[in-house]
Parts: sequence; C-alpha cells; structure tokens
Amino acid sequence: MKYEFQNIEKKWQERWDKEKSFAAKNGSERPKFYALVEFPYPSGDGLHLGHPRPYTAMDIVSRKRRMQGYNVLFPMGFDAFGLPTENYAIKNKIHPADVTRKNIKRFTSQLKKLGYSFDWDRCVDTTDPAYYKWTQWIFLKLFEKGLAYKAQIPVNWCTSCKCVLANEEVVNGECERCGAPVVRREKSQWMLKITEYAQRLADDLDDLDYVERVKIQQRNWIGRSVGAEVDFATTAGDTLRVFTTRPDTLFGATYMVLSPEHPLLRKWAAGNPEEIKAYQEAAAKKSDFERTEMAKEKTGVELKGICAINPVTNGEIPIYISDYVLASYGTGAIMAVPGHDQRDWEFAKMFGLPIVEVVLGGDIEKEAFEDCETGIMVNSGFIDGLSVEDGKAVITKWLADKGLGEEKVNFKLRDWVFSRQRYWGEPIPIVYCEKCGYVPLHESDLPLILPEVEKYETTETGESPLAAMDSWRTTKCPKCGGPAMRETDTMPQWAGSSWYFLRYTDPANSSAIASKEALEYWTPIDWYNGGMEHTTLHLLYSRFWHKFLFDIGLVPSPEPYSKRTSHGFILGEDGQKMSKSRGNVINPDDIIGEFGADTLRLYVMFIGDFEKTAPWSSNAVKGCKRFLDRVWNLAENRLQELESGSAASYKLSPANETAVHRTIKKVGADIENLKFNTAIAALMALVNDFYANAPARGDIKILLTLLSPFAPHIAEELWEKQGFDGYAATQPWPEYDESKTVDDTLEIAVQIGGKLKGTVFVPLDADDDIIKTAAVTDEKISRLIEGKEIIRTIVVKNKLINMIVK
Ligand SMILES: [Zn+2]
Ligand SMILES: [Zn+2]
Repeated sequence: MKYEFQNIEKKWQERWDKEKSFAAKNGSERPKFYALVEFPYPSGDGLHLGHPRPYTAMDIVSRKRRMQGYNVLFPMGFDAFGLPTENYAIKNKIHPADVTRKNIKRFTSQLKKLGYSFDWDRCVDTTDPAYYKWTQWIFLKLFEKGLAYKAQIPVNWCTSCKCVLANEEVVNGECERCGAPVVRREKSQWMLKITEYAQRLADDLDDLDYVERVKIQQRNWIGRSVGAEVDFATTAGDTLRVFTTRPDTLFGATYMVLSPEHPLLRKWAAGNPEEIKAYQEAAAKKSDFERTEMAKEKTGVELKGICAINPVTNGEIPIYISDYVLASYGTGAIMAVPGHDQRDWEFAKMFGLPIVEVVLGGDIEKEAFEDCETGIMVNSGFIDGLSVEDGKAVITKWLADKGLGEEKVNFKLRDWVFSRQRYWGEPIPIVYCEKCGYVPLHESDLPLILPEVEKYETTETGESPLAAMDSWRTTKCPKCGGPAMRETDTMPQWAGSSWYFLRYTDPANSSAIASKEALEYWTPIDWYNGGMEHTTLHLLYSRFWHKFLFDIGLVPSPEPYSKRTSHGFILGEDGQKMSKSRGNVINPDDIIGEFGADTLRLYVMFIGDFEKTAPWSSNAVKGCKRFLDRVWNLAENRLQELESGSAASYKLSPANETAVHRTIKKVGADIENLKFNTAIAALMALVNDFYANAPARGDIKILLTLLSPFAPHIAEELWEKQGFDGYAATQPWPEYDESKTVDDTLEIAVQIGGKLKGTVFVPLDADDDIIKTAAVTDEKISRLIEGKEIIRTIVVKNKLINMIVK
C-alpha cells in the first residue's frame, strides 16, 4: 500500500479532536509540564511559515513529556486586538469582530492540519469580553496601586496610522507597522510604571534559565547605570540638575546641554527666543533614534545671556540646547565632558568649546574613549591621581556633603505608554469627573464592552473613534454620581498578551483571572519558546505584570517563565526575508497539500540549527518526504519477511541493538538541547541501518515511538497497522542501556614494518593473541606476509598492531 498521507493525516486529526487526546488535567496528582508558544495574531493572510518552526519544536517537547509521564499543558490562543484587523475592517467596511472571528477560524483549521497536540478546549481570544474583562481588571489593580497614571508627554506619533507608538515600535525613525515617518508630539497618555520594577526585572534574570542573548538584550534595554545627580548653579538663579554616570569627570565639564524640551527653557529662552523656538520645532520632527544616532552631525543653539557654574572649578560654562540629549533620559540635561565622551567631543569640535583631559588613559585626539573607564584622574584638583572608581566615590561624597548632589541609579527603561487612539482594543475602564478626577469603574461593571461605532477611523484631531460617540462617552461618576466622561483611548496591543498564559490554566473562570489551585499547579511555565523580536516588548511587559500580580498575592511565583528559548527565522529560497513584494513567500498550506503535514513538520525542524535563520529549500523538503516514504515501506514491506507469530516479545534484533540504543539516547538528548536537526538525522541513520539489517518488530516499535513526536500521523498509522497496543503517542518514552550504546567491536590498524597495510575488526579490549590471529588471518594481510617470518609483534590496545617480518 502507498503512503497516502492525506487520508492518514485527516484520520488522526479527527480522532485526536474527538477523543481530546491532548487535554491537560487540572487537579492531577501527576507532575505537570507547562509548555508555551507565543499565540499568533490572526491576520487575514492566514498562518505563515514563521509559525510552524517554533510550534513544531514545542509540540515535539510536549509530546515527549507526555511520553515521560507528565500531565502536559500545551495551549493555543489568539492575540486578536490590533491595527491590521482594524485597517482591514476600515477598508472593507466589515466589523473588526467579524474579521477576527473569520481569521481565527481559518488559523484554527490551519493549526489543526499541522497535527499539533494543543489542548483546544483552553483556547483564548483576547478580544472576547469574557477574556478582556480580566485585562481591564488587572489595569484597575495597577491603577489602584498607583502604577497606572495619566501624563502629558512627548510621544511618537505615526503620521500614517495616526496613533501613538511605543519607543519599541519606532524603527529607524519609522513606524514599525507601516513604515511611515514618526514625529514627536505632546499628548495626554495613560502610562504604566514599569520603571518601578526596573531593578527587579534586571536582577531576577540571574536565576532564570533563559538563553543568554535574551538576558543580554533585556539587561541592555533596562539599561541600569549608577552615577550621580549634580546641581549646577546658574547665572539666572535657578539650579540646573543633571544626571551623569561619570561624576569623576566633573572637572572636565566645560559646557552644559539641555534637551530642546527642557522645562527651564520657558524661562531661559529670553536671550535669543526665535533661534531657540526654531530649533525646538525642528527637533520635534525627529525620532529618538535619529536624534541619538552616533553618526549624525551635531547641531545646537547656545542660550544667550545665561551660564552655569561648574561646582568644582567655580568656572562659568556656556549652556546649549541640542537634540542629542533626550528629555526622557536622566533629568533631560547633561554636563558635557568632551574629553571623554564621543558625542560631547563632536559637539565641542563643532562649536569650538574647550576640551579638557581629566582621565589619563584614553587618547582624546584619536577619539579613543574606551580606556577612560580605567585610567588615572588628572587636571582634577582634589581627586588627581585617583583611579576612576575612587574618583567617582570621592566626588559623589563631596557633592553629597556640600548638598550639591547624590548618588543615583538610572535606567534607560521608560514607563510604558498604555494608550492608543484607536478603536480595536480593550476600552480603558476609567471615567473623568470634574469633581473627583480619574475614577475607576466598579469591578461589577466589568467588562466595559467596546461599543459599536459607525466609523473605525481615528478622528481628525487624532482621538479614538470612541471620542466621537457622545452617547457612550457621557456617563455618571461611580464615586459621586455626578456627570463624567469615559476614557476614549483603548489599550495597546501588548495588553492582552501580558497575562494570557495565566488564563490558559483555567480559561472558563468567571470570577477570577484563574483559580488559585490552577495557578498553583500550573505556574510558572516550564518552557516558553518565542521570537527574539519579542524580547524587549512582550517578554518584558509580561514579566512586569506577573511580578505585580505576585506582589498583590494573585500568582504564586515572582517570575512567569522558568525557561525561555528562541528560534531563528525561515528565509525565502533566495536567502531573503519572506515577503509578498519579493515573491518568495512559501505558504504552509501548499506544502501540506503536496507533501503532508508530517513532512512539513520534519522539514522545519531539519532545516538547520533551530536557533539560527535558515533559507527554505524545496529539495530538502522532498528529502524529508523521501525519508517518510522509506519509513512507510520499511514497516509495510520489510516486516512481512519477519516472524509474525512471536509478537508479544518485541525483542530488538541483535544486529540493530547498538544502533537502536544509541538512537534512543541521541534523540532524547537532542530534543532537550533544541538540536532537532541532528535528532532527525539520527532517525534517518537508524532507518538506513534497518534497510541493511532487517529489523525485528521490537526495532520497529522503538522507531515509531521515537518518530511519533516529530511525525505523529505516520507514526500512529504504522503503529496501528502493526497491531501494537494503544497509541504511539501514549507509549512511555523508551529507555536505553548505556552499555549497549557502545560498540563491542572496533576497527584497528594493521601495520607491517611500521607501514599501514589494512584494518581488522576485533572485540573491544581484545588481548594480543586475538588481535594477532585476526590480523594474520585477514585475507589481504595473510597474502602480504605469506612465506615470511614474523620476528616481533607490537600491539597498542584498541588501536593497532604492528608486525616486523623478515
Ligand atoms: Zn504607522
Ligand atoms: Zn465624581
């Protein structure tokens, strides 16, 4: 019979669905294993090839864990709020909820066609009011604890999407979604105080089993630095406070720079107001990225008529504004030390400002500033001769004693902008009352349902379409009963995904995010695999929410994920990123139609190192299909030659025993280490062995068991055809005997007069006589020594034999 993958895959998928074969059980006595993949955004384009690689990997791990006796939770859901759906809805005049429903249906059927062992009964959809009720509820908890607040801040404004973007969503000065230019604007926004957790988010990485590159990226993003805040007196009377990571270089501060948005400019622009205003307007059009780019030419304007006073030299130094200083970093103002900072150096050169060397070690003229971290202080008055480290400590103490400053830890991480002026998101459950200010809704009024609107477009003034709905907007204050206005901003796309993994543990719960028992049993997640692109967004946001929920006693662990791994992308066949415009997109549906889901699963795991990018290869897909054909033919045809009566014993054949034990060991270890490609290669080698030495039924049984996590449909079908009991997927993961993974024979070199003449196979650790007998009876060697006398024999155990002849 032919390997008819289409019928086989359909048959098993229907059976798994009907029998709920992969349902996780709450309240089980068995040890649990919670495997998580990032739930998809259900776009109109359907599943793309970025999904099967990580999903198959964790499916393999989950299936192996079930075979190892664990109660496994491997869930799937949909992160369905967001712009693409809304834009599609606007264009085609369909309600985003209808678009979402349709897309989720398509995604579900595509995912089922890949044979994943998800527990579909636990599926969550972030746009379902029964789900977002709890997203809103968590927001209210954050508000209650002072971690959600409203602020007038400069924001990144996408000129095309007409909405505010987080810094993380601005790439090279452009909108991450649409590529349009991003400009700065002042806007009133809801903010989440993730900065309050910055220290813990950085420190707690130490004990987590995350791949190193994830830890490094998160630490850099959080950007903790210890320095000092220093007060500079000014000739205008006001004090100017700056943050510096290098208080030791205070003697080298020869000028000051304010960000163009600095509040003191309202008072200090009197000397040359027009020039300053023009510069501020130009800066507002640039993104943070453009402003801080190292390569760009430095620009700035001096504040006329005002000077700062360097507190250690008492010298007057000029004050500039320049866009390379951001309002959001430190205090929005810096002391410039051009002798030891690249950007300050460039600025000083441009404006002809003095450059003073205060650390011996770097070479100022060569712009080599790296060494100034470890040099010796010079030109620095009372800290001359000290090391940088000691200089820092002495200056910081001196400042504190004089009341001119203090030690300060600073973070690059900013508070999280938590508002969008768009329709398709969770409504923020807050009202504004003239008398009471911002007032949260009562818990019993949740979910605050997203109302039906006429138009989904942002208003002309850049407000959410909800702002145009007076009937919805005007309401009563929950506190005083007076007239109040609802918040019309909605939550950002990252809200629903910040806690979705908790909901999976108890998805139908209507009185809590999940029951205490479910959370205690299932969390933390044992293994979470996802994309590197989510390291500084979703992964950090969800750690923050989880820590907050831990602090208020709702979850039992301070961290959501014990282990985090990450995969590489699959590129197009041309080695470029897959994109419609390049015409190199591979649709998983097409591959499944032509070769089957098992082939696609094997292929995306075989394609190369899981953690690295890999280009698509049509030939390699065919190679994977051929492998499955060989497995099919082996079990179908070769077995007929085997004894069929003694089915009960399922012994391994002596000829294949070593190969089988070795493969069990290798496949098991490789899965744990994300070496899926070499695990599959080992299975291919085993099948080759079985073609060379006819396998026994016991050999086939092990092969199907090991193959089952990778290619579950064919494994199950052959299992059934062989008449084995139960399912391949429910077998215990096979054990191996270490001693049997080692060959009991080995090949050694045979030399005559010190020259290599051939090789022979001998038992491991064989004694000299046996080796000598093997050598002299070898066909080739016996001809070479015919008629000669062996006068001496030298044996190196397990390596070689050398015979001296005469
Ligand atoms: Zn945009
Ligand atoms: Zn009120």
